[in-house]
Amino acid sequence: VERLTALIVKGGRVIDPATGFDAVADVLVRRGKISAVEPSVDAEGTVIDASGKIVVPGLVDMHVHLREPGREDEETIASGTRAALRGGFTTICAMPNTDPCADTASVIDLVEARAAADGVVNVLPIGAITKGRQGKEIAEMGELAAAGAVAFSDDGTSVASAEVMRRALEYSKMFDLPIISHCEDADLARGAMHEGFVSTRLGLVATPSAAEEVVVARDVCLAELTGARLHVAHLSSAGSVEIVRRAKKRGAKVTCEVTPHHLILTEDALAGYDTNCKVNPPLRTEADREALREGLADGTIDAIATDHAPHASHEKECELIDAPFGMVGLETAVPLLLTELVSRAGIDPVAVVAALTTRPASVLRVPAGTLSPGSSADLTVIDPSVEGTIDTSAFESRSRNSPFHGRAVSAAVTDVLVGGVWMLRGGEIQ
Ligand SMILES: [Zn+2]
Ligand SMILES: [Zn+2]
Repeated sequence: VERLTALIVKGGRVIDPATGFDAVADVLVRRGKISAVEPSVDAEGTVIDASGKIVVPGLVDMHVHLREPGREDEETIASGTRAALRGGFTTICAMPNTDPCADTASVIDLVEARAAADGVVNVLPIGAITKGRQGKEIAEMGELAAAGAVAFSDDGTSVASAEVMRRALEYSKMFDLPIISHCEDADLARGAMHEGFVSTRLGLVATPSAAEEVVVARDVCLAELTGARLHVAHLSSAGSVEIVRRAKKRGAKVTCEVTPHHLILTEDALAGYDTNCKVNPPLRTEADREALREGLADGTIDAIATDHAPHASHEKECELIDAPFGMVGLETAVPLLLTELVSRAGIDPVAVVAALTTRPASVLRVPAGTLSPGSSADLTVIDPSVEGTIDTSAFESRSRNSPFHGRAVSAAVTDVLVGGVWMLRGGEIQ
């Protein structure tokens, strides 16, 4: 019913980096589409007051682990998309490292069917690069692409063989889809955390930045050799940012992403052995965090992606060495980024919004992440001046593995429109 009447989102600061729009304006929605963004819309319809708020295109998260099929105790497509909705994301990509993994059309079909039946936001599946994510035999990429995969990735592990990676990149060109690379040299990456001052003090086996950088450099070389589109997942080190920056200057078809946790935390977060801070790649140094922020500000880094990685509590309640890698991120990204990057560090909110909307959409070449007239009415309203604390017990996600529980934040997602329907109102799922 709501789709049939016009909606007017009135008087918010509308930031749409895709069109360069940043001003107080009204957004008019008709029949599930954005109809106009103007200083003052004169139309009949339901009015939503957004004064004092920020109105942005529905956010796009290109790196999410939904765990279905296989680990429905940790997350499902239903719970994961609800977490995304709460977080302001209207389009998310499902990583293929499920059980079974998405290396066949039938698993892609299953993810799409579940998303259509139980999902509350748009889900775009990613197919595996190699069969069983074993790094040996290239998956049937044509079959995966035909089933709707928007990219290929063996995320969770690196493709160890440069020769296999070269062939995967060559093959991916036939479908004009990017390869998303989890860059990690398995021989060098042996630890639970970053190799540096803190790991030495704690006496832990650790992983140097070089474990990531050697594979980022390798994959950039292979992207240039093949002319294929490479997207580097979760950059974590200053060296990786510099490799991508230079590759882009040469004109290589390379894009990359960073997670909110690598933009906000450092290795110091591991000083108390918090297993929720054990992530892959690891949290690194202050200098790395600074380089990631600079890379975001100067456009070297295309996207902010959560790498939402739900894990059961019992699996994280153990020694740091034994704990699985990863933290949940969908429900904390916006409050953390606006509080830590925009309010505290003074980073331009337009750069942050671009990295959460039009830039990941253009990496994937999907029609999302903009409020330009005619596009699907996916829209997120953020209150940038509300005092609160992160409460993991209130998460929609089935998992609670976040180190940010209890952290003070000064922003919140209040309302989300998906395809012209209010799915979140006043922070509550409709
Ligand atoms: Zn990864
Ligand atoms: Zn991941």
